[in-house]
Amino acid sequence: MPVRSEALVIGGGPAGSIAAMNLAVDHDVVIVEEHDSPGEPVQCAGLVTPRGVPDFARESIISSVRGARIHSPLGFVLTIESKKPRAHVVDRRIFDSLLFERALSAGAVPVTGSRVRTVRDEGTCIEAELDTPGKDCHLTADVLIGADGHRSICRQAAGLRPPKQVLHGFQTELTGVESDPDFVDLYIGSKIAPGFFGWSIPAGDVTRVGLCTWGENEPPSKYLKILLSRPEFANASQISRSAGRIPVGVGRSAVSGRIMLVGDAACHAKPLSGGGVYTGIRGAELCSDVARRHLDDPDGTSLSDYDALWREAFGQELSRAFRIRKVFLTLTDRKMDQALRMFDDPEVRALIEATGDIDYPSALSKNVLKLAPKLAKFSPQLIKSLL
Ligand SMILES: Cc1cc2nc3c(=O)[nH]c(=O)nc-3n(C[C@H](O)[C@H](O)[C@H](O)COP(=O)(O)OP(=O)(O)OC[C@H]3O[C@@H](n4cnc5c(N)ncnc54)[C@H](O)[C@@H]3O)c2cc1C
Repeated sequence: MPVRSEALVIGGGPAGSIAAMNLAVDHDVVIVEEHDSPGEPVQCAGLVTPRGVPDFARESIISSVRGARIHSPLGFVLTIESKKPRAHVVDRRIFDSLLFERALSAGAVPVTGSRVRTVRDEGTCIEAELDTPGKDCHLTADVLIGADGHRSICRQAAGLRPPKQVLHGFQTELTGVESDPDFVDLYIGSKIAPGFFGWSIPAGDVTRVGLCTWGENEPPSKYLKILLSRPEFANASQISRSAGRIPVGVGRSAVSGRIMLVGDAACHAKPLSGGGVYTGIRGAELCSDVARRHLDDPDGTSLSDYDALWREAFGQELSRAFRIRKVFLTLTDRKMDQALRMFDDPEVRALIEATGDIDYPSALSKNVLKLAPKLAKFSPQLIKSLL
């Protein structure tokens, strides 16, 4: 059965739901999600800054954290804390469902439990085929918003470049961990999480412990076993496990022809933290605005206007953070330890506590440059990446 709409959104994660919600207010929108329920299976630690949690999704907040303890590979611990909450810990199942429901309330037509098998930009319209058992479903639209995550078939159809790096993540939920609900613990080092970091996040009745790796042949589950052998997890029981991937290293463009990409499909996750919920939502707001203006006046607004908007909103930050990440990848365990010790200075800690922002970490750079003499000695590459 052919279905025609002005906009087709593929993917019912945070990015797709927000794009569909904004656009459905005054345009015909179809949103396709391959799972029966959005948000499942959960592949996320659920740490999101307050600006990434819309007011209508506050019900998904389990708790809030105001600090982090960063564990060096050689045993040193740097504590950064703030007086006010820096991030919420959300239940992604509830968060994603609330966003999806909002999109439907705004008028988006859902197609769930169906995977989009093929997408073609025909120049005058978009054609998509659903992989629906027993049904032959063909969708046509003027504009396509590809919010289909890291494996994005929309990205392939648009001919846009793949991510520079894909992080491999693995997480478990534990009971029986004595954790401070105000703090997350982060673990770095080649033996714990090569190419990224591990985390332990208090989330109400459970603690989410996980990590990502990059550039490794060994699966992240092997490293998780090592992380779980730490004394703080000695009495814990695992109640769930999940694996997932995070694409990092954004390209120059997220638009081609009638296809716009958003969220992980556009590699908009943050290279230093792996968080993609906030940038996914912000990008979705921007791309749906451009799509609306284009649908109302195709000659007046080009879909490619979206590129300048996301780059200004967070693209420069992503590029700068990726350069810092490249420096991080060169650090030995010893250097990581030295770096954390260097930051364990009352003046530096105060600076981080006052101006640090998980969504825009490189904004610290100007202030951190005050430490240039120390940093220059430690890593001239780091100074270069911050400029
Ligand atoms: C282990 C791990 C921990 C993480 N922790 C955090 C964190 O603490 N904070 C944070 O901000 N981010 C975190 N992230 C990243 C975050 O989960 C993603 O950046 C975010 O979900 C991206 O949102 P999205 O809407 O772009 O994509 P997704 O949430 O991946 O949604 C895409 C949706 O599209 C659907 N889909 C895909 N292909 C098709 C198709 N062909 N047809 C129909 N449907 C399709 C998928 O099933 C999915 O539901 C983590 C990721 C991992 C792997």
